[in-house]
Amino acid sequence: MLTVNSIPCNPVVVADDITILSTRVKRLQEKLDTLESYSCRWRFDFNTSKTIAVTFGETTRTFNKNNVTRNWKLYNAKVEEKRSWTHVEIELSGDFNGNDRTKNVCKKAKETVHSLMNLGARSGRLNPMCGAGLWKTNGIPTCLYGCELWNTLGTTELNNLERAQRYASNIIQGLGPNTRTAIYAYRQGEERVMGFIPDVMRLLQKYNLQEFLETYINEQYFPRKAEWRKIVLDKIGGHQLSKWKLGMNDKPELCHYKNIHQNIMPFTLCETAKRNPFNRIAVANLVNIVCGNVPDIFMKCVQETPYSYTCQLCYKDIVDINKHLIMECCVLKRPRNEMWDMLYDILPLENVAFLNALQDDEDLYEHLIGAKIPNVQYLPQEMQDKFCLNVANSIMRILFHIKISIIEFDIV
Ligand SMILES: [Zn+2]
Repeated sequence: MLTVNSIPCNPVVVADDITILSTRVKRLQEKLDTLESYSCRWRFDFNTSKTIAVTFGETTRTFNKNNVTRNWKLYNAKVEEKRSWTHVEIELSGDFNGNDRTKNVCKKAKETVHSLMNLGARSGRLNPMCGAGLWKTNGIPTCLYGCELWNTLGTTELNNLERAQRYASNIIQGLGPNTRTAIYAYRQGEERVMGFIPDVMRLLQKYNLQEFLETYINEQYFPRKAEWRKIVLDKIGGHQLSKWKLGMNDKPELCHYKNIHQNIMPFTLCETAKRNPFNRIAVANLVNIVCGNVPDIFMKCVQETPYSYTCQLCYKDIVDINKHLIMECCVLKRPRNEMWDMLYDILPLENVAFLNALQDDEDLYEHLIGAKIPNVQYLPQEMQDKFCLNVANSIMRILFHIKISIIEFDIV
């Protein structure tokens, strides 16, 4: 036991912050008086210059009106009243307006993403899956600190948060910042009841889980923790999956991506890149193509017309630039044939036959850029990876060939 001059001292507790809450505005002064007499009795002082009062639940108009007449005192000094106050790094706003707090969170998200970028989380460097892991363990907890106290977020705030999250996930996965992502459009309905409990109710309704609350109220039964966790994860997963798919439908640039990648799970191309880090740049380029991004060098050999593009190599009118240059353009026949020869050499005969039998060239293109080997027979992982890496590197060769053609054709 700690003793000072043989006086026993129990563990020392230092309270350097104190928050007093009053449900009625008028009772606050009584509490302040109690605080004052307590501090005089125990011979310590509160710092009045650091003491702030916040009244919750008033509109700005009522606040402005009341603030003139309200007068709180501690040791006869005026206690200043503010609209919001940051307590343990969480901003609490008297009118429950979280705009500034949300702006700060978005700013923090961008700062975190850029610091991760400096560490190497960018296209062709860190694998997107490792990047996503870093974002989940560093970025999201930083941004969501204190989110238990956020309630009734407005549409603008939700949109800003969504935008920050989309920006972060694109950068972290090595995609261009403007790449289309599966977006979740939040909709604010009729006038909202504010507060934590209404928010919980809204979440239960959103994920179709309110029956569990009803059962609990009527029959006092609620699933055990592990079971409830599974139910919640399944419901949220299902909800997000359908929103994600719906969100991709009206975005033409994702027309191939949505057929190639159909579940919310790590993209197979990224998994291949993780197993084969030396080929990460080629695979990152392929991932961008699958996501509908047109490589700069592809853009250079087309000219935009009112409704489509003209290929500057073969002068055909085209709509899908990536597909034309990879699959169709006659000027690029040589590197393309080399690619197919190489791919056919890797695959067993049945799979080659299957690929050749594909009638629809869209289908063949998606099999190619998605590095999906037609599932005729089980193929070992190494063969699948080899196929994928050959596709990625062949497309890099096509890019290189275009670079040369641009010089030959004198396209500027
Ligand atoms: Zn062409």
